[in-house]
Amino acid sequence: MIILGEDSQRMKDKDAQSHNISAARAVAEAVRSTLGPKGMDKMLVSSMGDVTVTNDGVTILQEMDIDNPTASMIVEVAETQEDEAGDGTTTAVAIAGELLKNAEDLLEQDIHPTAIIKGFHLASEKAREEIDNIAERVDPDDEEIVRKVAETSMTGKGAELNKELLGQLIVEAVRAVTVKADDGSNIVDLDFINIETQTGRSAGESELLNGAVIDKDPVHDDMPVDIEDAKVLLTNEPIELDETDVDAEIQLDSPDQLQAFLDSEEEELRAKVDAIEASGADVVFCQKGIDDMAQHYLAKKGILAVRRVKKSDIKFLKEVTGADIVSDLDDIDADALGTADIERDDADELFYVTGDDAHGVTLLLRGSTEHVVDELERGVGDALDVVASTISDGRVLAGGGAIEVELAKRLRDYADGVEGREQLAVEAFADSLELIPRVLAENSGLDAIDTLVDLRAAHADGQTRAGLNVFTGDVVDTFDAGVVEPAHAKEQALSSATEAANLVLKIDDIIAAGDLSTEGEEDEGGAPGGGMGGMGGMGGMGGMGGMM
Ligand code: ADP
Ligand code: MG
Repeated sequence: MIILGEDSQRMKDKDAQSHNISAARAVAEAVRSTLGPKGMDKMLVSSMGDVTVTNDGVTILQEMDIDNPTASMIVEVAETQEDEAGDGTTTAVAIAGELLKNAEDLLEQDIHPTAIIKGFHLASEKAREEIDNIAERVDPDDEEIVRKVAETSMTGKGAELNKELLGQLIVEAVRAVTVKADDGSNIVDLDFINIETQTGRSAGESELLNGAVIDKDPVHDDMPVDIEDAKVLLTNEPIELDETDVDAEIQLDSPDQLQAFLDSEEEELRAKVDAIEASGADVVFCQKGIDDMAQHYLAKKGILAVRRVKKSDIKFLKEVTGADIVSDLDDIDADALGTADIERDDADELFYVTGDDAHGVTLLLRGSTEHVVDELERGVGDALDVVASTISDGRVLAGGGAIEVELAKRLRDYADGVEGREQLAVEAFADSLELIPRVLAENSGLDAIDTLVDLRAAHADGQTRAGLNVFTGDVVDTFDAGVVEPAHAKEQALSSATEAANLVLKIDDIIAAGDLSTEGEEDEGGAPGGGMGGMGGMGGMGGMGGMM
């Protein structure tokens, strides 16, 4: 009996599994050459021709225009990781891909998917437990260790060249928005940190400001631009004629009537400006437009006005100045105004909005071009998250593959006690973790197998923090070498990778309303540059043997 439409397609059992695994692995392959300090960047060109050059896993996957449903599930791993931890997106996706690759081997040995899923789940739980055992507890007030976490996160990114300065700024910024809870723990609220970018100068001239930076011009040349102790009005309403007035159709019989009509419009704008003046505001930051006539009146009254301020900036100004966002300009409560010092930087054409008890800081990142600052911003964003995580959580790990090799070792010991076929899945999970040191080595031009052998030997010898120095190829105590990662990001990477792999493994039937086979090929046409070729050949991925 046929129950599906004519164009729909169906794939079952082994076919469905291998289709899904290939698609997921193709995604993982696409990002793994970016992993680590020596990872390469990718250049992504959108259908509109916009160019992004990045090393950031989640950015690559989001820009890649992936339309295979299984591949999208892996992209979600990166997005979850980005939301929950901020860093470690490439790691999470690479591990998810490797779990599926190893699962495929088990499936070929006729091990049932549910046994694999159970084994992966057990291994993931155990790994999280061991991360907690292995993690070093550090004093969150120890600036040096926190700075190392920031620097490790920026290694290999555009931000790396200035990692000392940026690391310093990032740590200061996070400290500025940290409050101590009653029990002595730290609570960090990153909403109070704003990142602003400026092209034209070098990254080494980036700075941290107490308050906000608004990259806008005054609406009129005759307005004051430096105001101390200014009363600040924030509004998300346009200072223009009401919409209805603009749309209304009017019939005029004489020139007098036209004049009267224009006068009434003028009157309305004048009333709005009068209301602003009456509130006592010295400066207005408006999220929408400001009418030419209103600009003129505001300038005459000596009020500084800035229009089309980004919504996010208005929100941040609210934190900095303590103002409320006013949405009815005819009825402004004097309490809604905030206070701040306004200062104009003519060279950079921006306003500094600062205050003694301003709640909120701005990281002003500079770089020579748009592409440079964009990548800088992504790198700094990741570092802010890991620093926040370290300051609030206090648990860190040795990076450079050290934690993965140690976990793999402990999981193999644990596997011995696991009954049934799940044992094989736990072992496969351990093998999958070792992908990280292998790829770090490979991306650094080192021999992946030799490196892994050396690392395993060191760990067997009890050197829990032995990892790879990617610059020399030596096995070193990476914690002492300053390669330090927050434990929380690693835990999150393992959980989301496992969940995604298990989700894919549970599927034994794909029913598609359209044609499944074209999806891989469609990507090929739009695949500019870099590692996207991997997506085009999705169907054939099963044949690629991986690295070892
Ligand atoms: P992700 O998106 O997963 O964060 P990255 O490209 O940032 O990917 O690479 C992170 C990996 O690089 C981590 O395993 C980290 O330990 C490692 N790493 C970072 N700096 C160094 C270093 N100086 N030496 C060795 N490994 C490093
Ligand atoms: Mg990273």
